[in-house]
Amino acid sequence: MPSTSARALFWFRRDLRLDDNHALARALTEVGDVVPVFIFDRNILDPLPRQDRRVEFIHAAVASLKARLQELGSDLIVRHGDAVTWIARLAGEHKVSAVYTNEDYEPDAIARDVLAARALGVRDIPLRTFKDTVIFARAEVMTGQKKPYTVFTPYKKQWRERLGHDAVAAHPSADHLDKLAKLPESPMPSLEKLGFEPAGLAETKIDASEAGAQAALERFVDRAIVRYHEDRDFPALPGTSRLSVHNRFGTVSIRALARAALAAPKGEGAETWLSELAWRDFYFQLLYHYPDVATQPFKTEYTDIAWQNDPELFAAWCEGRTGYPIVDAAMIQLNTSGFMHNRLRMIVASFLTKDLLVDYRWGEAYFAKQLLDFDQAPNNGGWQWAASTGCDAQPYFRIFNPSRQSERFDPDAKFIKHYLPALAKADAKLLHAPWENSSKLAASGVKLGVDYPRPVVDHATQRDACLVMFKKIRET
Ligand SMILES: Cc1cc2nc3c(=O)[nH]c(=O)nc-3n(C[C@H](O)[C@H](O)[C@H](O)COP(=O)(O)OP(=O)(O)OC[C@H]3O[C@@H](n4cnc5c(N)ncnc54)[C@H](O)[C@@H]3O)c2cc1C
Repeated sequence: MPSTSARALFWFRRDLRLDDNHALARALTEVGDVVPVFIFDRNILDPLPRQDRRVEFIHAAVASLKARLQELGSDLIVRHGDAVTWIARLAGEHKVSAVYTNEDYEPDAIARDVLAARALGVRDIPLRTFKDTVIFARAEVMTGQKKPYTVFTPYKKQWRERLGHDAVAAHPSADHLDKLAKLPESPMPSLEKLGFEPAGLAETKIDASEAGAQAALERFVDRAIVRYHEDRDFPALPGTSRLSVHNRFGTVSIRALARAALAAPKGEGAETWLSELAWRDFYFQLLYHYPDVATQPFKTEYTDIAWQNDPELFAAWCEGRTGYPIVDAAMIQLNTSGFMHNRLRMIVASFLTKDLLVDYRWGEAYFAKQLLDFDQAPNNGGWQWAASTGCDAQPYFRIFNPSRQSERFDPDAKFIKHYLPALAKADAKLLHAPWENSSKLAASGVKLGVDYPRPVVDHATQRDACLVMFKKIRET
């Protein structure tokens, strides 16, 4: 254990908050005199487009963190470059006895941390890592045979049974902030200095600060959690928390979400919401135990599936012009806001893979570029679930019918009309399958092929083609 008179570096990554931050609490209580740092990692940033909402979100969250640390008489040292090189360098410059950080379970992050531990090891400085991003990590929830769960329901059962006080207790980092190193104030590099331009985060009205995340959690718990099980599937309702971006960057603690659900009025709403947090943990442990899923189907028998990968159909899907209003409205929500409702993620993922017969990895990569809450584990898990290639996935023969999904989950076409204003005047009933109603639609001023596209494929035909594609690969 490092001596209490020593100094430590605290490396912020996907935990951009001061409260209930596990590794920060440990650094403050075990060492004290903690120097906080954040590195804009060129290895991650350089390949990104120069306008990227996520970079804007991180920049805003880091700026807010830095301002709070300055109010406390400390600072956040912010650097731009290779993360490993900078961490080793800063650890040397500040003569620290240890570097504290929270665990990251993505394959690339694990590889980076191995390099960081090695670079610090040369100077005899340990890299101390702690669980923070998830409630149960790695091998904490395992089968009786000590194997990782690959089916969600039994995983969730054990997860829920173990969700006691200890699992969700706060790590009291905020109580020890007086132990932060006193540092002179340094300027925050601008977005432009990092090589990026604003990408429209302001229009999303998301507050990227820790206070913003806390307010979003309180709003959800006060107004929506008790009805969550009823409202969560309807994209036109404000039925879900919209906390995923905060979970991604750690502007809120995942334990705080679980504590809030446990303290909420008992009932199906809070329990269903807890299940979603369990799905999140489930996908994290899956990626950790099976890192190959990052590039390959979990079900290896589907590795050589003959996806048709038509670039024009893929472009129509990306741009929201498939002629299926629920799909197009969802894609426009994604493209314009960086968010997509969970029900719609399932619908568009099913449509891309089972109707357009495009490899799920194309869709996964597109989501990775567009989603503000993009997170490798749930994104990969969600895509493989929809494509039927994943663990505990949708069976390949159960194929979403986009028109039925639209009727069921957007019955008044409120969501569709919001994102497709060309259809705003049409009768909602006509919008779930507009090609069946072209003359009635024309009467309301919508001419198919002119004001709104005709369908790029026929669902029934594509459904059969998809079943053949899956049957073929299963036979071989
Ligand atoms: C194809 C596909 C891709 C997805 N990609 C991502 C992604 O990149 N990043 C991401 O965070 N989620 C992803 N999800 C899961 C889910 O759609 C989002 O987490 C959810 O829509 C976020 O909205 P919310 O915060 O209002 O969620 P809520 O319904 O309020 O749920 C609370 C929290 O639980 C977690 N969560 C909810 N649903 C799921 C789920 N099905 N799987 C895992 N975690 C869940 C999220 O952290 C969320 O903030 C994906 C789902 C699918 C089907």
